[in-house]
Amino acid sequence: MPNNDSFYKKVLDNLYDGIYFVDEQRRITYWNKGAQMLTGYGEKEVIGRNCHDIFLHLDSNGNGICSDACPIEKTITDGRKRDEESFLHHKDGHLVPVCLRVAPIQDTDGQMVVAVEVTGDHSPRHALRQQLENLQRLALCDPLTTIANRRYVEMSLNSRLEEMRRYGWHFGILFLDVDHFKQINDTHGHDTGDRVLKMVAKTLVNSARSFDVVGRWGGEEFIAVLANISRRQLPRIADRFRHLVEQSSFRLDDRLLRVTVSVGATMSHLDDTVESLVQRADTLMYRSKQAGRNCVSIGFGEEMPETSATPSASP
Ligand code: GH3
Ligand code: MG
Ligand code: MG
Repeated sequence: MPNNDSFYKKVLDNLYDGIYFVDEQRRITYWNKGAQMLTGYGEKEVIGRNCHDIFLHLDSNGNGICSDACPIEKTITDGRKRDEESFLHHKDGHLVPVCLRVAPIQDTDGQMVVAVEVTGDHSPRHALRQQLENLQRLALCDPLTTIANRRYVEMSLNSRLEEMRRYGWHFGILFLDVDHFKQINDTHGHDTGDRVLKMVAKTLVNSARSFDVVGRWGGEEFIAVLANISRRQLPRIADRFRHLVEQSSFRLDDRLLRVTVSVGATMSHLDDTVESLVQRADTLMYRSKQAGRNCVSIGFGEEMPETSATPSASP
């Protein structure tokens, strides 16, 4: 950098977007405050370390890209810029949707440095923040996870049911229950159980589209209300939620703590009530428990059970 180094550093430090530089060995040499805000990792924890040792990047379907398809590695090899939509692992375990921009730069000694720009999705995030303020004001927010509570989910289901009757817009619902959650509390304590619930809640909210509603139904149970989807799309969307939770983890005493969810997924019927809809999704979720957990069961009511259980991909 030129001699007004500290000026540029200040500018970079004060951007909301995350910026970091890595050298040709993928070691982090610069880390701004935006990167700290997005990932939860401070400068001292990351400088000099290899980026994939700290946080993993996943593609938009939750599959790791750091070993085979690392965009930074590719840019080091071919010197080209690239843009990618991906998820990164926050220090608290949940996944954060980001846009990664990777660009090669020559530093003042002629060495190649790769600049990585990590942009959080500001507009939905801003909308979410506003939504959260409203929820807090109206006491519709779950205090532990800070996502919508059961009352808000019930209100959303009622609105969707009314819309369906009026305009014929059917919608999907997922019932998600954390697997063997009691064991987490018993083994690691209630506080760690709470951290797991926050992680799962954030990943679910971050996996949803801006017009979906994700809330905590109670204990370790969550509901997602999916507007604007067809029967055909439901299995893929439900399995994406399941997979993204499976990919979330945080470090606890030198090991990664992760959990899975069993999912029940169904579509609304013209004669549904909130109770009948939730009951159907809950029954399907229970079917996933019986099928071995960490899977999705789909059913549409009349012809239940129409089960499509996804085999567990993790240990
Ligand atoms: P399964 O795979 O069959 O769902 O087993 P499970 O252990 O997840 O199910 P179970 O219903 O037996 O356990 C749920 C546990 O969740 C019991 C309860 O103590 C715990 N729990 C409920 N709310 C909270 C909470 O707010 N924080 C913590 N840490 N634990 C909670
Ligand atoms: Mg439960
Ligand atoms: Mg459970």
